[in-house]
Parts: sequence; C-alpha cells; structure tokens
Amino acid sequence: MAKKIFIGVGHGGIDSGAVANGFKEKDLNLAVALSCRDELLRHGVSVLLSRSKDEADPLTEEIKECNAFGPDYAVDIHNNAGGGDGVEIYHHFGGGKGKTLSQNIINEIVAIGQNSRGLKTKKNSLGRDYFGFIRSTVCPAAIIECAFIDNKKDLTIIDTLKEQQKMGIAIAKGILKTLGIAYKAEKTYTLSLTGLTKSAADNLKTDFTKKGYAVTVK
Ligand SMILES: [Zn+2]
Repeated sequence: MAKKIFIGVGHGGIDSGAVANGFKEKDLNLAVALSCRDELLRHGVSVLLSRSKDEADPLTEEIKECNAFGPDYAVDIHNNAGGGDGVEIYHHFGGGKGKTLSQNIINEIVAIGQNSRGLKTKKNSLGRDYFGFIRSTVCPAAIIECAFIDNKKDLTIIDTLKEQQKMGIAIAKGILKTLGIAYKAEKTYTLSLTGLTKSAADNLKTDFTKKGYAVTVK
C-alpha cells in the first residue's frame, strides 16, 4: 500500500503568520508545501495537504483532517520570527519516530546550506507536548520552522520561489528517507519540435513523461 503523508501548511487567509521584510509566512509555507507534495507524489507517496491555496486553515481543522487521513507521518510547515537564524524542528518530547523524521529532514535542509538550530521539544504545564500539532495528531509528527523571515540574512535562503521549492524538496527527501523510499533525481528531457509533426511531438512528450522525465518543449 502506498505510504501516506499529511502536510500541514501553517496559517492562511486572514492569519498571515509572521510578517516581515515584505514577506508573509503563510505564502512561504504554501510554496514550500506544494513543492514538497509534488516531490512526494513523484515518488508514489499519497499526500494530503491541509490547504493548497490561500485560505483560512485553523490548526484544529488541520489536526482533524490529519487524523481522518491516517498518514504514516505528518509535518507542519512554518517559518519563524523573533530574530533567530536557521532551521529548527519540533517533535514529541519522548523522541521516537517523530524524532527520526525530524533528524532526517533537518539533515536535508542543512545540505541545501541552511544553518541548524537543532531539534527541539516543548512541554506544556501538564507535562504534555506544548504544540497541538504534535500532541493531538495520532501519527508521528514534526513542526518545521524553515527560516527566520525577520532576519534579513536568514531570509536569503528562502526569498525566491526557486529557493522555496528547494526547501520543499529537501523536506520531501527527509520524509522519503524516513519512509525507506530511495530518492530519484528528477530526469529532464528537452523536446525540440524541429522537424516533428504535432502528433509525433505529442507522442514523444507522453512517452518521456511516462518514464518520469520532466519534459520541456523548445
Ligand atoms: Zn507559523
């Protein structure tokens, strides 16, 4: 059976999350999440996103959707504020599979050049996990704070769409490793239309797409 991953996309709608330097956290979170989803889909993983556009997305709803979906793992994608520098990932205070997931993801994010503030846990006054996404989801979960958008230096790792997509791919790689699925580098094929009929070009495009190539037409 296909592995299942739930991706929570932090904030949305009137809740922008952190806002700084001309960026809204909700937009960055979505771009990272969409890229992460595409990369997981490309590897045959079944994915549910909490939102795929800019809309209200309360945490309580996210948690309900996640538990109804019954995934192997869940990640919640956020960006940080407060003047730090680097990625940090929260997991269940007891460690376990959520910690392994977090470690695999942080390794991949460091590999694209981001600083690491390390893996973290936080308890509430009752001695349970502080964050609802970790406390109330049934599966192992991680909250990923990719970068500090109110730190101009840290923001440079994620301030273009291409970098946001790269962040999403890094997260996907960490998830795939945790699932025991080998990462396949994306294959690309540039189709030149010179000398081809439209149907021949369409056939070639279909063939290469089926073989897993990303086809660009020239
Ligand atoms: Zn957030």
